[in-house]
Amino acid sequence: MNTFDVEWLDAWSPEEGSARAAALFEVTFGQAPAGVWSAPGRGNLIGEHTDYNGGLVLPFALPHRTYAAMTARTDGRVRLVSAQEDGEIREIALADVAPGAVDGWIAYVVGVAWALAQEGLTLGGFDVAITSCVPYGAGLSSSAALEGSVAMGLDALYGLGLAGDDAGRQRLVAACIRAENDIAGAPTGGMDQAAALRTQAGNALLLDCRSLEVRQIPFDLSADGLALLVIDTRAEHQLVDGQYAARRTTCEAAATALGVGTLREVTDVDAALATLGEPETVAALVAAGQDVQVASRRVRHVVTEIARVQEVERLLDAGRTAEVGPLLTAAHTSLRDDYEVSCHELDVAVDSAIAAGALGGRMIGGGFGGSAIALVRAEDVEQVAGEVAAAFSSEGLTPPAFLVAVASAPAS
Ligand code: ADP
Ligand code: MG
Repeated sequence: MNTFDVEWLDAWSPEEGSARAAALFEVTFGQAPAGVWSAPGRGNLIGEHTDYNGGLVLPFALPHRTYAAMTARTDGRVRLVSAQEDGEIREIALADVAPGAVDGWIAYVVGVAWALAQEGLTLGGFDVAITSCVPYGAGLSSSAALEGSVAMGLDALYGLGLAGDDAGRQRLVAACIRAENDIAGAPTGGMDQAAALRTQAGNALLLDCRSLEVRQIPFDLSADGLALLVIDTRAEHQLVDGQYAARRTTCEAAATALGVGTLREVTDVDAALATLGEPETVAALVAAGQDVQVASRRVRHVVTEIARVQEVERLLDAGRTAEVGPLLTAAHTSLRDDYEVSCHELDVAVDSAIAAGALGGRMIGGGFGGSAIALVRAEDVEQVAGEVAAAFSSEGLTPPAFLVAVASAPAS
């Protein structure tokens, strides 16, 4: 039996989160907020680094949420405070928000207002107080939870009318993506924002990143006697760096060399890899500054990963949930060896979970740290968590933290 002490990351209830945000607003700005809006962090069952390749992803909302207490202002200014940052008030005029002009965490917030205004929507300034129980920078998308909570607040404060249906929410998603890409300078692909805004409780969200169509897939693991353990490795994870952008650039160069718009168009992976080895393709890749062997591995990951999403979809539809496990493990191997975005902590998390009896597991998110998931039998959750923590300890790693993912509600 597990004798190892394990840290669990509990989610706040919506009431507690709202009360915390409202209280922070009141001590900071001296009055009660007009309202509190919130959006969830996300897990991703499968489909990693496929979103920016026009592929498929299968994320779900966590019970862990970011809460934004907000009030509109008439002077076009924005004042911001976050309990997860230094607690100092930051202030900026909306008119001064532009690509490259905003530093730090506030870019994710004012970027959303900027992007909505770019869309031609009419909105003004605001005061906002943020607090969150989404693990920070842990690959569980605290950034999209922040953007989503603010987008919902702006929608309500300025009567944009977008939050009421999925088509409107898709426009909010687009604004959140622009905020993150253009103002925060993080070239992320769009899965996170869709997960925060377009999921439904009890479901995973099959998102086609080419058509932006979604399908809700019932995802109640407990009904099958299963659970999804999330392991926050606490390893440094920095998306706003060269690695993520380099993967994107390689995928785009490979798609161009293959004569397709995105790697989503590639259906026969062996044929594509053969084409990548032909002299003209090699020349095109080299001219684009790409290593052919590396590009081939990246392509193999993306194409096989999209196929794994489709296989998981079939298994979930057929009620064969436990059989998803090996596909998660195959995804991890592909992310580790072909996409090269894993790290020691993530490998230890996945390997030790499987050694402890998990049905499968993989790293999730951008990589180089952050979190892993493990599909486990419900009765094995504590045991697997204990053995993962023990493995981290014997490797001399910072202790990981855990949560059990339950498909929760979207931004509200
Ligand atoms: P992830 O989305 O995986 O958690 P990212 O690096 O994409 O990691 O986003 C983390 C960044 O988002 C933080 O460094 C900070 O700038 C911003 N952020 C997220 N949550 C908050 C919050 N509650 N308050 C202030 N900034 C936040
Ligand atoms: Mg993020």
